[in-house]
Amino acid sequence: MDSKLPHVGTTIFTVMSQLAQDCGAINLSQGFPSFEPDARLLDLVTQRLHSGANQYAPMTGVPALRQAIAAKAGRLYDRGVDADAEVTVTAGATEALFCAIHAVVRPGDEVIVLDPAYDSYEPAVTLAGGATLHLPLVSSAERPELHIDWQRLRDAITDRTRVVMLNFPHNPTGTVLGPGDLDTLAEVVRDTGILIISDEVYEHIIFDGASHLSVLRHDELWQRAFVISSFGKTYHATGWKVGYCVAPEALSTEFRKVHQFNCFCVVSPIQHALADFMQLDPAYPDGLADFYQQKRDQFCALMRESRFRFVPAAGTYFQVLDYSAISAEDDIGFARRLTREIGVASIPVSVFCASHPPTRTLRFCFAKDDDVLKQAATLLCEL
Ligand code: PMP
Ligand code: GLN
Repeated sequence: MDSKLPHVGTTIFTVMSQLAQDCGAINLSQGFPSFEPDARLLDLVTQRLHSGANQYAPMTGVPALRQAIAAKAGRLYDRGVDADAEVTVTAGATEALFCAIHAVVRPGDEVIVLDPAYDSYEPAVTLAGGATLHLPLVSSAERPELHIDWQRLRDAITDRTRVVMLNFPHNPTGTVLGPGDLDTLAEVVRDTGILIISDEVYEHIIFDGASHLSVLRHDELWQRAFVISSFGKTYHATGWKVGYCVAPEALSTEFRKVHQFNCFCVVSPIQHALADFMQLDPAYPDGLADFYQQKRDQFCALMRESRFRFVPAAGTYFQVLDYSAISAEDDIGFARRLTREIGVASIPVSVFCASHPPTRTLRFCFAKDDDVLKQAATLLCEL
């Protein structure tokens, strides 16, 4: 078969979750919580399932949900958004990313991604006929946390650059944007036709008192951006696969042209229930930062007893651990061995990187009950 994606295999999330299951290992690989959504939300889903919300939803999303998303953009990011023209509900952030890329990337266009880059970006760009340019996030003595190398990004831009992809808080490294980053990006893309696709699925999971620097906050960048999020992360419901894209009307119009022939519309009762819940408790997401910060702190405190080295994540529900003091193996081999022999599954970070050599780091998901984190840490501390 002459594959359109010759270098793509089964995703690392599927591979590692399957290996964890086969080995009976604690699964800190694929990112999903080990706890349930809020009971009030589950009740609302049940009610909606039993009250006739079981046929196709409107193509762009249930109006009440689009309005709740627009209200959130106003409340958190001070962005006035037209719920009818600028919000589209999607089958998870994954579908939104795919639609945004396919709406704007033509054969020959270049898309800049920052490595480590979430694994769904490049295949979508390839299928659209585009080329992906990988630039590494960097760290330096003056700025030890991973960040964007602006000079390198400026130098990478050509007249074929169509999109810069952002993902902050960042999966897998947990790094976040610095205060000047959005202004610098605005300056870099000013007077170009470059668009921004901003994957903000971890927008509410940000630690140590920082607030999320959404592209929605930025008057200039917002004009050229698709801002994407996921209810899966925010409501502990990754299996529902509901997300959304907020973009100015002209971009949303193009986005919807792809969405309507990709998915057409998204699971109806869940959309209604999410809208109900967002009206009932609009501030629910505000509690996530503290909730996950406690988990991060617990996991990091336990791991300080180990030979792994790390800088605590600034956001997301992932912690990257460096195992170079333990083994010289490559990260894919080491992650497999840890799963089989130690009983803890993780994600090797090199699978997210095309721009630099494999690292000796693994990503662990700490969206787990405290006893699961304790058990995993006990096993990892034996190494
Ligand atoms: N982007 C990033 C950075 C993610 O981590 C994820 C899922 N973990 C997604 C997109 C996809 O989100 P969804 O499950 O809503 O499709
Ligand atoms: N985004 C999740 C992660 O980073 C996994 C999603 C998936 O399995 N496709 O672990």
